[in-house]
Amino acid sequence: MRRFTGDTLLVATHNQGKLEEIAHLLAPYGIKITSAKAHGLPEPEETGTTFVENAQIKAHAAAKATGLPALADDSGLEVAALDGAPGVYTADWAETPTGRDFVMAMRKVHDALEAKSALYPRRARFCCTLVLAWPDGHDEVFPGTMDGQMIWPMRGDQGHGYDPVFQPDGYDLTFGEMDRWQKNKISHRADAFAKLVKIFDPT
Ligand code: IMP
Repeated sequence: MRRFTGDTLLVATHNQGKLEEIAHLLAPYGIKITSAKAHGLPEPEETGTTFVENAQIKAHAAAKATGLPALADDSGLEVAALDGAPGVYTADWAETPTGRDFVMAMRKVHDALEAKSALYPRRARFCCTLVLAWPDGHDEVFPGTMDGQMIWPMRGDQGHGYDPVFQPDGYDLTFGEMDRWQKNKISHRADAFAKLVKIFDPT
């Protein structure tokens, strides 16, 4: 595994929440963080068919454009009885002409499960893949997952996206019922980050 030895990392996201979360996580390592937005980078089209491919597209585009090592992530929900859908199209399932509607998207997933008379428990998995790419074209991939089941009706009004319909294994609460800190400790993103930070550790 190639280690990160520079002093500046570009976080290839236009999402302020993700940027803050990553900056917070990397604070102990004394790494300077800069963003895709600060460099005026466009958002590349996510044409991949896997989380890894989409994260690689974003990370390599940013590394190439700036000459800095760049970190990108891609995430989504895979529902077993739907053959892994919505998968890389998780955000797309929420698109409407007037913006994203996640209540509609959660209902879509539920309706698709009902249409298939899917058995209980309705197994699902949140995935988050982080990719760190260097300007010379090398990259390192860090996949994270959280297994659980789909819940209906929705429960909880915390979190974002599909949180109210996902109950992680080992908990009675949905992600939507957990406070942010509790969820961030156990989530698919936490799993991927735990693997990533080893690359910054000099020991
Ligand atoms: P992207 O990684 O920005 O492409 O977004 C993937 C989509 O997956 C998001 O828009 C959310 O809808 C969904 N998603 C990813 N992680 C979570 C999560 O922790 N809770 C709820 N929804 C999530």
